[in-house]
Amino acid sequence: MIDYRSDTVTRPGAEMLEAMRNAPVGDDVFGEDPTVNQLQEYAASMFGMEAALYCPSGTMTNQIAIKVHTRPGDEVICESHSHIYVYEGGGIAFNSGCQVKLIPGDYGRITAGQILESINPDDVHKPRTRLVGLENTSNRGGGSCYDFEEILKIRKVCTENNLKFHLDGARLFNALVAKGNTPAEYGKIFDSISICLSKGLGAPVGSLLLGTKEFIDQARRIRKVFGGGMRQAGIIAAGGLYALKNNIERLGIDHSHATAIADTLREKEFVTEIFPVETNIIIFGVGGKYSAKSLAEEFGKNGIKVIAISPTRIRIVTHLDISSEMVEKTVNLIRSL
Ligand SMILES: *Cc1c(COP(=O)(O)O)cnc(C)c1O
Repeated sequence: MIDYRSDTVTRPGAEMLEAMRNAPVGDDVFGEDPTVNQLQEYAASMFGMEAALYCPSGTMTNQIAIKVHTRPGDEVICESHSHIYVYEGGGIAFNSGCQVKLIPGDYGRITAGQILESINPDDVHKPRTRLVGLENTSNRGGGSCYDFEEILKIRKVCTENNLKFHLDGARLFNALVAKGNTPAEYGKIFDSISICLSKGLGAPVGSLLLGTKEFIDQARRIRKVFGGGMRQAGIIAAGGLYALKNNIERLGIDHSHATAIADTLREKEFVTEIFPVETNIIIFGVGGKYSAKSLAEEFGKNGIKVIAISPTRIRIVTHLDISSEMVEKTVNLIRSL
């Protein structure tokens, strides 16, 4: 099968598995797992941030950050299709007792001006605006990336209005490769950053939360409350460390694979629209002789898995386990439809 459903489907390769097998381990709840510690220190230094915390998932790193930054009754500003709002089970309300102010974005991106307009005045009627959450790349925006200039403007709005600034960087490395920015540039700007090791980077498990030492100390307490304290987690952390050291630059290959597939889709009459392809995600509209479901089934009959994300839209995600031969096969199939 050629599996384009998500970049989460990657399996660890031989070298990554070898690194995992050889990882020294200890009890991470006691802070004694040398591999987890090494991963956390490596990531923190990459971003020029004080500290990092290894967690089982990106949902947990996002939700911990929101919990640490807010008090119940506060308001969180984010884009309407944000993962933290749409795909984390209502966690902002469930875990942090906060409400959300949604801003409609441009393929998942919001602007400094929109955020400024959304901040509540200091008035007892209004919830206290406390946190801005960005997502880069934007999943529902089709892997779109922010311009770094806009992020700098948003930072300024946050500073001037005493707001915390969190980045859901599940696919931040895709954005860095696409835009030519560095982790350290991002580390300077955000109060907290979540990155996923198990998406495009290809590790089997885990995400990292980055911030100041004081923030991470609080985050570690919340991780325990959320049930995310793991013991000999070095076995999986070693996969993450391997991924950070080896699998970032190659993300450009995934991006050119996505562009090649999108270019072929563009030739087809049944494709009604394609979101701009900036990284490894293609979201496209389906009409005419296919519904999203029937086209996904047609792909399936030919050994290719894609996801219908609505009755009229399909998502394709390229990743580490997609080879150029597989892309060629996919392009040929699309041409024949
Ligand atoms: C995948 C993803 C996450 C985290 O998901 P987990 O499955 O909990 O690791 C967070 N944000 C975005 C944008 C994602 O795509």
